[in-house]
Amino acid sequence: MRARLAQDHAPNVPPAPPGVVRLRGLAGLSEFVEQAAPELAGNAMLCAVNQAAYLLKRQLESQGRTFLESGGFTEKLYESRSRRKESDRSDKSDRSDRSDKPLCPKCGKHMVLRTARKGPKPGQAFWGCSGYPDCKGTLAVRPSEKSDKSDRSDGSDS
Ligand SMILES: [Zn+2]
Repeated sequence: MRARLAQDHAPNVPPAPPGVVRLRGLAGLSEFVEQAAPELAGNAMLCAVNQAAYLLKRQLESQGRTFLESGGFTEKLYESRSRRKESDRSDKSDRSDRSDKPLCPKCGKHMVLRTARKGPKPGQAFWGCSGYPDCKGTLAVRPSEKSDKSDRSDGSDS
């Protein structure tokens, strides 16, 4: 607002006769108030107060519109916090997917834990490709993952 008032000049005011002070826009207000007659100075200050109140009202209205359109501070805080929590959660689940599920030796997809229904070792757990039945890659379940004596299992349900 100060910047705006500094630019408030009335360029077409005719030159003042000697001994008379003229107000040349709000930029010269303080100078005018110091030199003019008390009634004129008071009048000029009232005009300036009106102008300031009008500009403040416009600013409040504009902030109100912005608030309705794009939300307030609290809303934005909550939104960015939720977004962060969401991305943390998906990061974590990605990582756990990667760490405790092996990748298929044939196609590279994640594998899922299955139980052999038939084949040489029915009832035994093994890793099967998540791309099954397109990919029939399997892996033995390591003893740490499931207690088991045999190192390699070709358990398969196909
Ligand atoms: Zn596969």
